[in-house]
Amino acid sequence: MPRPLAAIINLAALQSNLALAHAAMPQAKTWAVVKANAYGHGLEFGMQGFANADGLSLIELDAAVRLREWGWHKPIMLLEGLFEPGDIAIADQHRLELVIHNEQQLAMLASAKVHAPFSIHLKINTGMNRLGFTPDSVPAVYQRLQAMPAVGTIAFMTHFANAEEQEPVLNVATQLSRFKQATAGLQGSLSLANSAATLLHKELAADWIRPGVMLYGGSPGSRSAAGFDLQPAMTLQSALIAVQRLKEGDAVGYGSQFIAAQAMRVGVVACGYADGYPRHAPTGTPILVDGVRTRVIGRVSMDMITVDLTPLPQADVGSSVILWGDGLPIEEVAAAAGTIGYELMCAITPRVPRIARN
Ligand SMILES: *Cc1c(COP(=O)(O)O)cnc(C)c1O
Repeated sequence: MPRPLAAIINLAALQSNLALAHAAMPQAKTWAVVKANAYGHGLEFGMQGFANADGLSLIELDAAVRLREWGWHKPIMLLEGLFEPGDIAIADQHRLELVIHNEQQLAMLASAKVHAPFSIHLKINTGMNRLGFTPDSVPAVYQRLQAMPAVGTIAFMTHFANAEEQEPVLNVATQLSRFKQATAGLQGSLSLANSAATLLHKELAADWIRPGVMLYGGSPGSRSAAGFDLQPAMTLQSALIAVQRLKEGDAVGYGSQFIAAQAMRVGVVACGYADGYPRHAPTGTPILVDGVRTRVIGRVSMDMITVDLTPLPQADVGSSVILWGDGLPIEEVAAAAGTIGYELMCAITPRVPRIARN
């Protein structure tokens, strides 16, 4: 018997969430973001689930090449562009679109010899202060790009720091007005919105949107994903592989962190931090056993976690376990562990098989 742990990927949910992103900004084309192995869901399933997207965008050059090899013919955008001059030939061969966000990339592009000019996405730093050119430098950068033989069309993009926050230090309106000023009078299509902006800021509709987490059924902010009609695309499921009977005062696991207040049954689940389950999930983190909500107890170990079977007198070895997904929003597990759903999805490790379901 194989280890019972798997990430079940619901392709219909990926499709439905993509349709929801499109419906939120119907005039815009969609770059479906599939970086980080499609947020942990498996790149190939991302490509299948987002077959209707206008383009796919990601960070990893090798993954972009794989998308081409698997037959993705529509646009692919590299969200961080080139890392070294050697990337140019590969991007040229596979017709990848490039974000250009710094001087070093401009220099690489200036001396590039290519078969066909690149579609470029000029990234503008409107206040996030990670990637991009300052707004006042944009017209000059645009002119330099236009003069390069390796450059074809030029589009503009920026990224919002607080599209999901209520009263942020830097708000969407400020970033938007910097973006508009920087691009005033320049020709090129615009892409602005991540998931939070797509769902919450209609004023950010532009030529393209760049949703990521919402496509996987994750909430981009503090509101529940179900509140946006998003469907979880990943269900992390496993089973009990052992059951222990504890007496009052018995302890469980490393550090003996959980001590039974009375006699109880404890289930051992085949899933641990080596699978991507967060080690910081404390006693009390929600989990489903045979569809019944119970709690993780004691420390998460590398290959196992232990759960309270008090509400489940019938549960035994083989009982099904859902760590998150159908019936248990990933955001609830994330909140208990002090993180966000994004991190949990992405952290699923290679040893966990991904299995597609329609
Ligand atoms: C990851 C990423 C996105 C998607 O963000 P979500 O919050 O997952 O929707 C959009 N744009 C850029 C530049 C990104 O790096």
